[in-house]
Amino acid sequence: MQCPVCSESFCSKHFDKWWNEDKFDWYNASYLTQYCSEHFDKWWDETKYNWRDDSWALAEYCHDYFDKWWNEDKFNWYQSPTLAVHCSTHFRKWWNPDKFHWQDSWTLAQYCAEHFDIWWDKNRFIWTWNSWALAKFCSNHFDKWWDAKKFDWDDASSYLCIYCSKYFDKWWNPDRFNPRHLMYLEKYCADHKDTWLGLKLYYDLSL
Ligand SMILES: [Zn+2]
Repeated sequence: MQCPVCSESFCSKHFDKWWNEDKFDWYNASYLTQYCSEHFDKWWDETKYNWRDDSWALAEYCHDYFDKWWNEDKFNWYQSPTLAVHCSTHFRKWWNPDKFHWQDSWTLAQYCAEHFDIWWDKNRFIWTWNSWALAKFCSNHFDKWWDAKKFDWDDASSYLCIYCSKYFDKWWNPDRFNPRHLMYLEKYCADHKDTWLGLKLYYDLSL
């Protein structure tokens, strides 16, 4: 869709000069969301929009028009982490634990921490590769989410040291702590040196 005035594609400035609803190829609709969101009311058509591929683009570029486009049945929920990232202010309107793509659980921890009590579900949260985000962004809810058996110690022991050091006595576990993260204990949990020094000496000797 080239602009006849300045020949740019998806030109927002001269939108009315090139926009033709009947000729538009809706497979390019994500460009409309990206470059022409201020003309949203003119181009939006929920029956033509490519929900399967481009639901994410609505969340990312048109969150100001959320109430106009949101459709729980049409939205592609595999792309729902983009809702967590870009539409957290509308959280209560879109949240659905049965439909959310929990594989990217970290997006909830990072971008929807203020709604923690609504979305938190320790059985649905995918702990592997996502635990770090709980430690980093939801440390003030530590007592609600902490679970030594589910936490991803291999990936995120360091995050406990950096962001949850004040709960050290609750999480410290020499059998589970990742020894490759020992340097974070030295840097962030020095107050508890008496407790973890034994583990460090053990690994220093075994090297
Ligand atoms: Zn133009």
